[in-house]
Amino acid sequence: MKTASKTVTDYIRTIPDFPHEGIMFRDVTTLFSDPRGFRLAIDQLLHPYVGTEIDQVVGLEARGFILGGAIAHQLSRGFVPIRKKGKLPGKTIEQSYTLEYGEAVMEVHDDALKPGQKVLLVDDLLATGGTAEAGIKLIERMGAQVIGCAFVIDLPDLGGRKRLESMGMDVHTLCS
Ligand code: AMP
Repeated sequence: MKTASKTVTDYIRTIPDFPHEGIMFRDVTTLFSDPRGFRLAIDQLLHPYVGTEIDQVVGLEARGFILGGAIAHQLSRGFVPIRKKGKLPGKTIEQSYTLEYGEAVMEVHDDALKPGQKVLLVDDLLATGGTAEAGIKLIERMGAQVIGCAFVIDLPDLGGRKRLESMGMDVHTLCS
């Protein structure tokens, strides 16, 4: 008998109470470490953008680097990291955003993108959308254009998709 092929969801592990009590942490390391799972995720993240003009892929720290790097390689495009404050060595622009408790700051090198470039933004998971919104603002402040935001996981109850769509973004997710 043929076994049904696994979906992206089947490779993701949930760790309860990490990093805080009450948080269901969606662990994609088990997706990344499986050759089929990783290939499936990259192919499905890219699928809607086949034939779309993309100049650069931008990934959000940290798991967006792993996905974004693979996607950039597949497209033969460059990769640009958006990092938490204090990690990038060159001149940066920064954007603050709200967390559940307090504020955080994301940064990008100020010469990482050129005006008019079309960008695909990538991360592992969309929750409130605060991190992605900060990334979009940084990309747009450099005059580049976000043509799509791709995530493996959507947590719809937290409203991230609605938040990004209300900014006019195309949002692509593989599972929720
Ligand atoms: P947010 O800014 O609220 O959309 O949160 C998205 C960012 O936080 C992503 O970079 C995720 O990796 C991380 N994140 C938020 N909630 C979770 C969760 N339940 N499991 C794993 N990562 C999460």
